[in-house]
Amino acid sequence: MSTSFDNAAQVLTPPEPNLPYLRTNRAGEMRLDPGGLTAGEDGRIAALEATRTADLHVDATDCALLPGLVDCHTHLPFAGWRAQEYEQKVTGVPYEEIARAGGGIASSARALRETPDDAVLQQAADLATEMLAHGTTTFECKSGYGLSRDGELRALKLAAELRARVRQQTTRTALLAHAVPEGYTAKTWMDEVEAMTPAAVDTGASALDIFVESIAFDVEDLDRLGKLAAGAGVALRAHVEQFSTMRSVPVALRHDARSLDHLSAIHPDDIGPLASSNTAAVLLPGAEFMGAEATAPARDLVDAGAIVVLATDANPGTSPVFSLPLIVGLGVRRYGLDTREALLAVTLNAAYVLDHAHDLGSIEVGKRADLVLLDSPSEHMAYRLGHNPVAAVFIAGQPAYVRSDAEWRITPAP
Ligand SMILES: [Zn+2]
Repeated sequence: MSTSFDNAAQVLTPPEPNLPYLRTNRAGEMRLDPGGLTAGEDGRIAALEATRTADLHVDATDCALLPGLVDCHTHLPFAGWRAQEYEQKVTGVPYEEIARAGGGIASSARALRETPDDAVLQQAADLATEMLAHGTTTFECKSGYGLSRDGELRALKLAAELRARVRQQTTRTALLAHAVPEGYTAKTWMDEVEAMTPAAVDTGASALDIFVESIAFDVEDLDRLGKLAAGAGVALRAHVEQFSTMRSVPVALRHDARSLDHLSAIHPDDIGPLASSNTAAVLLPGAEFMGAEATAPARDLVDAGAIVVLATDANPGTSPVFSLPLIVGLGVRRYGLDTREALLAVTLNAAYVLDHAHDLGSIEVGKRADLVLLDSPSEHMAYRLGHNPVAAVFIAGQPAYVRSDAEWRITPAP
């Protein structure tokens, strides 16, 4: 069935086709012009104009039409929540006390271990439905709450099974070095990571990931994981410079990491090299906000030419946030981004992190017709903080979510 999107107030398009990413200092070249487009029967964008003879018509009057949003950093699947811990944190209970009482990553690891597969998958699928209603058409899953060889591989297998239960495209990242499990040192756990890497990659994981932090793994472990990723033929990603300045960036750049995520405490000398590399800077304003963390120097990264990306970091501990429009609102305010910079950061550049930019992330002929229709011009996404501007979501050209007040917009051909 073909679908014509008619008379949009804004259609977000890149300055040229086939870009693997667009450095954020070129975001001003993204166009937000009025227009329409047609999705063909094959689910791909067939033309950058409306077609009178299409089977389905979407009246996009007064709306912005965007590529489907891409969330390149989530910790799905996980089990349960940690709301009580959040209340303790905001009211001033020290983290050490929370951790001693069994909180933190260990608490999510225990919950995952004790929850049957089907319940884990159901929670994740329900969250994916919520994400769809906020415009997310592609998202990343991570392991990392397994904290044992079997646990990590189970999490990756559940992430693979989740694909069949959700409407979105998904990818899997093996966050094998998330926290040092009891009974191990960072070094002896890295031996386990090395041993389980082939099995992790066999589950379909397309990246290895690590948490480099004073309370977790160090830059030597990052160096080792970089070698493991290269040997396994998968991308290297890393949680770095979140709380402490560890100087992870030069090490990760030597391994041509696909992305470095967090960066709130990045050393000023590392901004230039990161910005001139092909490694994306994934900023997580939800985690920064919920954790009252330092603000990543996004403006400096943008101006130096970095590939800047925004993501939710959706997880039950530090960022239980699943809405990319909310993340855009937080990112624009915290980082001083304009609308085009922020939209680029949750579309094409996020697709690059997941190695899907050839197929997703921008509105151009031949790409999958994953599209988001906003109820307003795109500038409203950041401005009306907390309002969900998503009126409808289309996957491969077909309606996947339609808000009740937007149903009138979608009609069969007369
Ligand atoms: Zn994370």
